[in-house]
Amino acid sequence: MTCGECGRAITAEKKTNRHGTTYRYYRCTKRRLDYKCRQPVVQAAYLEEQIQEFLRRISVPQEIAAHVTDQLLEFAEEERATRASNLKRTEKTRASIERQLDALIKLRVRGLSGHRLAGFGFACSRSARVSPNPFAAS
Ligand SMILES: [Zn+2]
Repeated sequence: MTCGECGRAITAEKKTNRHGTTYRYYRCTKRRLDYKCRQPVVQAAYLEEQIQEFLRRISVPQEIAAHVTDQLLEFAEEERATRASNLKRTEKTRASIERQLDALIKLRVRGLSGHRLAGFGFACSRSARVSPNPFAAS
C-alpha cells in the first residue's frame, strides 16, 4: 500500500493511550526527500472501511468468470491426467525393480547355499528382506 499523495509506503502503528486503550493507525512513511507529504495519520478502522468499500465495487463480468472457471477446470483435468500417468509409470518401474531384486536375491541365495547356508534349506522371498535375516551375508 502506498501513499496517494507522495507514492511512498504506508506503515501501520499501534498506540496505547493513558487509559490503556490501544488504537491502530496507518501513516505515510514520508521518506521522499524531494517532496514534503502532507497526509495525516489515519485511524485503521477508517482506512479499512475505505478499502472494503473499494473492494465491494470490484466485480468480474459473468462471461469472464465463466471463461476463467472453464480454464481452471481444464488445467485441473490436465494436472489430474499427468499425475495419473506419472503414478502408472512409477508403479511399473517399482514392479520392475521388485522383480530385479527378487532375481538378485535368488542368485545371491543360490550362491550362498553352496557355502555358508548349506544344509539350512534357506528360502528367500520379499518377506525375508523385510524381517532381519540372521543368515544374511555381510
Ligand atoms: Zn505521503
